[in-house]
Amino acid sequence: MTVINLGIIGGGQLGSMLATAAKKLNIKTTIFCDDKNAPAQDFCDDFIFGNYQDSEKIKEFTDKINLVTFEFENIPFETLKKINEIKKVLPNPEINKIIQNRLTEKDFVNRLNIQTTKYKLIRNKKDLEDSLDFIPGILKTSTLGYDGKGQFKINSKNDLDIVKINLNKEYIFEKLVNLKKEISVIITRFGPQKYEIYEPIENEHEHQILKYSKIPAEIDQDIFEKSKEWSKKISEELDYIGTLCVEYFIDKNNTLYVNEIAPRVHNSGHLTINSHNISQFENHIRAVCALEKLETKKLFNAKMINLIGKDILNYRDKKFNKNEFFFDYQKKEVKPKRKMGHFTTLIK
Ligand code: ADP
Ligand code: MG
Repeated sequence: MTVINLGIIGGGQLGSMLATAAKKLNIKTTIFCDDKNAPAQDFCDDFIFGNYQDSEKIKEFTDKINLVTFEFENIPFETLKKINEIKKVLPNPEINKIIQNRLTEKDFVNRLNIQTTKYKLIRNKKDLEDSLDFIPGILKTSTLGYDGKGQFKINSKNDLDIVKINLNKEYIFEKLVNLKKEISVIITRFGPQKYEIYEPIENEHEHQILKYSKIPAEIDQDIFEKSKEWSKKISEELDYIGTLCVEYFIDKNNTLYVNEIAPRVHNSGHLTINSHNISQFENHIRAVCALEKLETKKLFNAKMINLIGKDILNYRDKKFNKNEFFFDYQKKEVKPKRKMGHFTTLIK
């Protein structure tokens, strides 16, 4: 049997966990990343450090591998397209193109008759001043945001004087949802109507960064069903292959909205490594490498805490119980707001 060498673009913790899952399935991994300190280099078989636009590096990468996936969605579309002409990229880069931009992403979701927050394109200060009915709201850069980066809360009209609009950028202005809860649904699609779906996960954010996740989510049955249904529909419409996450808001009236789609494995799904027979990472590898789809089952309820910045220091020499699992992403430097590790507890 020939061994598959899977290329992964991006070398953060998601890359590490994908490479670890691949190893278990006897699949070799080569990671291509523009950070020479990328933590995933210690988990993969081969590591290529280079700029994502560098044709020589792209050639070196594509020469080594059979097919490609990625751990983050903000890779330049042109790079993904170019790589896809040489070796197949899954999920398809055209999906990334839609999701990379918060406006085209929300337009796509609404076309499926699935509700998102109320939103509007902003190009300049005047556009913002014409949007008083969106206040209180959040102004976000349309591209390249993550973990709350590139977001500005606008609580009142007065805040409009403070915000700076870069005229070379596009923004989206979203009406603030009166949040009761946030949940996410992770689905791995193997082909038409062929998927494994995890139950909704309840998430809590601090300063717009995910802090806690748990299953089961404390939600009504209709939200449970609807969030899964919508995630299936989204993955089906995108003709998606691999693991995808849909983030949802539930407001105080129990209305469900899609917040955003992550075309990749997701932080809220880290608990699946321990709570399920097959993790979101293993399912992703199975789907993109066209391996067998096995029935995914929950073994335990679980909760996860993200270790952000200095949080990690309290865990590094701690003793753990049998139902506790500590993951250290082995990043070279501890920085505030940086995801350094996570800690999962299985619950009976
Ligand atoms: P990112 O790409 O940084 O994850 P999100 O749009 O998911 O960006 O925003 C991060 C978090 O900020 C959300 O999970 C939520 O807690 C809060 N947030 C973002 N937009 C809204 C909104 N329109 N209403 C209420 N909360 C929001
Ligand atoms: Mg988000």
